[in-house]
Amino acid sequence: APSTQPTVVINAHDLPYLNGKLPLTKRVADLLARMNLAEKVGQMTQAERNALRSRTDIASYALGSLLSGGGSVPTPNTPAAWAAMIDNFQLNAQATRLQIPLIYGVDAVHGHNNVVGATILPHNIGIGATRDPDLARRTGEVTATEVRATGIPWDFAPCVCVVRDDRWGRAYEGYGEDPALVQSMATVITGMQGKADGSQLKQNNRVLATAKHFVGDGGTTYGSSTTGSYTIDQGITEVTRQQLETLHLAPFKTSVDLGVGTVMPSYSSVAIDGQAPVKMHGSGELINGVLKERMGFDGFVISDWQAIDQLPGDYPSDIRTSINAGLDMIMVPTNYQGFTQGLTDEVTAGRIPLSRIDDAVRRILTEKFKLGLFEQPYADTSRIAEVGSAAHRAVGREAAAKSQVLLKNDGNLLPLAATAKVYVAGSNANDLGNQMGGWSISWQGGSGTTTTGTTILDGIKQVAPSATFSADASAPLDGHDVGMVVVGERPYAEGIGDVGNGHDLLLSDADKAAVDKVCAAMKCVVLIVSGRPQVIADQLGAIDALVASWLPGTEGAGVADVLFGKRPFTGRLPVSWPRAEDQQPLNVGDASYDPQYPYGWGLSTQATARQKLAEARNVLLQKQDPYALAAGVAAGVALHVKDWSGPQATIALAALAQSGKYLERTKADSYAEGDAVVSAARWIAQNRIGPNVDEPTSKLTSDAEHLLLTGNLQAAVDKLAAAYRLR
Ligand code: BGC
Repeated sequence: APSTQPTVVINAHDLPYLNGKLPLTKRVADLLARMNLAEKVGQMTQAERNALRSRTDIASYALGSLLSGGGSVPTPNTPAAWAAMIDNFQLNAQATRLQIPLIYGVDAVHGHNNVVGATILPHNIGIGATRDPDLARRTGEVTATEVRATGIPWDFAPCVCVVRDDRWGRAYEGYGEDPALVQSMATVITGMQGKADGSQLKQNNRVLATAKHFVGDGGTTYGSSTTGSYTIDQGITEVTRQQLETLHLAPFKTSVDLGVGTVMPSYSSVAIDGQAPVKMHGSGELINGVLKERMGFDGFVISDWQAIDQLPGDYPSDIRTSINAGLDMIMVPTNYQGFTQGLTDEVTAGRIPLSRIDDAVRRILTEKFKLGLFEQPYADTSRIAEVGSAAHRAVGREAAAKSQVLLKNDGNLLPLAATAKVYVAGSNANDLGNQMGGWSISWQGGSGTTTTGTTILDGIKQVAPSATFSADASAPLDGHDVGMVVVGERPYAEGIGDVGNGHDLLLSDADKAAVDKVCAAMKCVVLIVSGRPQVIADQLGAIDALVASWLPGTEGAGVADVLFGKRPFTGRLPVSWPRAEDQQPLNVGDASYDPQYPYGWGLSTQATARQKLAEARNVLLQKQDPYALAAGVAAGVALHVKDWSGPQATIALAALAQSGKYLERTKADSYAEGDAVVSAARWIAQNRIGPNVDEPTSKLTSDAEHLLLTGNLQAAVDKLAAAYRLR
């Protein structure tokens, strides 16, 4: 509920568009027919909340949207203060003739990252490393739940860029260099929005997503620029039409198919087949033609921050070009007076057709209706306790663990025993801000303890309390079994990257010295905490184990989980790892591909896979749910495998995966099909196996065991049922 009561009561007037029982298209049409030009122009205008001269400007300019740019936070920066702030803005919107609610947007690009106490997830580059689309979906759910709980229905995420050159300062915002990988991670949109038809958007744990930046933001040429500065960010993507389609447009097609509600064009330009570069914000060919017409995108297009100002020509021409190219809402974000006047003038003079305005407003209103904002414009804070909740942090921890890529592991140094005497060093070992990266509490992010979380050192100490720590690796002492040196980048957002280090992919001198010192003194594990690969060729020989940790977020314990074998290393490189910086751009499929570690590289720690399986079995066998018991039996069978490097292991894991899938399916559909497996598994689990028996599978008949191992679950169940006279 708002902190002060609205001056106008919702539904005071009984107009059709306020009637939730009418079909959505009718409501939109009814409202649109009642709007004057100023109200339509207002809907297409998004201002930054700090730019408001007065809150009453929301009504005076009939503003349709507000945003918090990176780090534009209320005081105090708490979930409750966010909700109250936005409610108060909504009160002003309710004081307009038609009471059209605002749609408030933020960049929650790895969790609700502006808010102190929220769960901050690994940046997308790490999520790409997990190769786990279901996990990506769950990160979307976590983010959406935390964002919506604070009264915000719209998130400028995900970035579905395809990162073709790691020197780009936004490489970490992308899921990787391969479009197929990015497409597989677009499940995050489903996590945020729910069903593709938008029917779940009104739920109090959903937000409207934004696929950005359309299109080719990750493919700009290093050194190219349309704005005058030497940059790779906001530069020019030089491609053939074929490359544009397969590399860069493909993830947007997937996003549209998943029902993404909004799309944000890129600051960059595209030069197709050697033609002159065209700024994306002015490309009618790609926005109207490809996105809206060909792909059938029916949400709305939101500009990037002040991006139309970069179009050639004066401001009226910027407005005309962008709106006619298919932009529906402009992130002005400060000069809303100038923009609303300019847009009004262009329409009045006939240079922007009213039909274009109506189309834009129809699109915006449609999403507002889908979000249920007309019924509930205020924060529903019933889920506010979930901001930073243990359950959400568990997802963050899982994601952090699964994102770790084991690049090198001489002598199987990892995982370590909890009893190992560990010496921890390096600039990023105990710095929450550094391990979160940019877009964390502030726009650029920053070093230090800026919010609640667990550093990598904290995580290590939870497992190995006796670990000693020295940030600058001073005097590594005798008596340690292993050194862990955590190095990498300092936070940054946009532009060219680590401002402290310059624009390169090289470790700082201090980081290099820490690696040298520790690795000379003892066996060493080096963890690189960074938004993109860092060249390590010169020191690789001295390093025993090397881990790409990416930017794991607030849950540093997830990193410790894989270091100490609580979970296996399963992450795989989402981008190619270069030997030298001048190899960039370096991508799998290049003619002379010679990376340090290829795309997809990642060692796994099989011994810990077994351990995990044992844990899973023990948990499953204690569940009352018969389906879980069935999966537990399969886990037990998998555990029976002796040689974990051989093909048997693969087969056993397949049996487990199959039973896991079966578990999912039967739970979702009907129980009838699963009766046999249920009875058998329950009987075996309760009467013959029991959680305390070490080798549960020894009680299975060898026939059934064989069938299970070869993946034939149903036949195995029939055998078991017969053997135990269950039918
Ligand atoms: C970024 C966008 C972001 C916007 C709003 C821009 O600088 O390019 O990705 O959504 O700011 O904060």
